[in-house]
Amino acid sequence: MLTLSYPGIEVMKRICPNCEKETDVLEIKTKESIAVRNENIEVDVEYFKCTECGVSFENTRDYDALEVAYKKYRCRHDMLQPAEIIEWRKHYGLTQKELGQILSWGGATLNRYENGPLQSEAHEKSLRLAMIYRFKNR
Ligand SMILES: [Zn+2]
Repeated sequence: MLTLSYPGIEVMKRICPNCEKETDVLEIKTKESIAVRNENIEVDVEYFKCTECGVSFENTRDYDALEVAYKKYRCRHDMLQPAEIIEWRKHYGLTQKELGQILSWGGATLNRYENGPLQSEAHEKSLRLAMIYRFKNR
């Protein structure tokens, strides 16, 4: 068996969804530009390409390129990351529902932001203000 090996690409055994059996697939690591609010964010992406049928399919490992792009966007704009929101909320012993009520947000909004989607600028401001003023002296 011929084994290809060059930087960024590895050959491994995976179930190809097109061939519906285990084949040799190339694991390709590359960069992709994702547009987030009119900005292009470059993220690392990984996918598999079947050496038998040539079909590309997603790496099913726990990796979401869009989520990574959001994370980079937040860093670039100094916005709160989901983990920071969760940590802050838990620090004050608040449930998502309770904090949502303090912020006058709909019930699902905070839950969404804690799970990856990018917060709106208005919501980012509300969160920052709440962090600075509401709980300063607790
Ligand atoms: Zn295949």
